[in-house]
Amino acid sequence: MMAFENIGFSKTIEETGLKYICCADCNVGPLGYHDTKAQEKEYLIAVNRVSYDVGSLKISENIV
Ligand SMILES: [Zn+2]
Repeated sequence: MMAFENIGFSKTIEETGLKYICCADCNVGPLGYHDTKAQEKEYLIAVNRVSYDVGSLKISENIV
């Protein structure tokens, strides 16, 4: 299971079934998308658009 904080979604695009994912704070995006027509429920995020914090460990495109 995946939980989001401060993530917003666009309305579903009728033709494609896609919802675009953006920052709920500043509306920057798209950060990824959710395909409402896909068999599995998944949220695809562009890895170079996000960072991930676990305690003092920070992973982003700037740290190799
Ligand atoms: Zn933001």
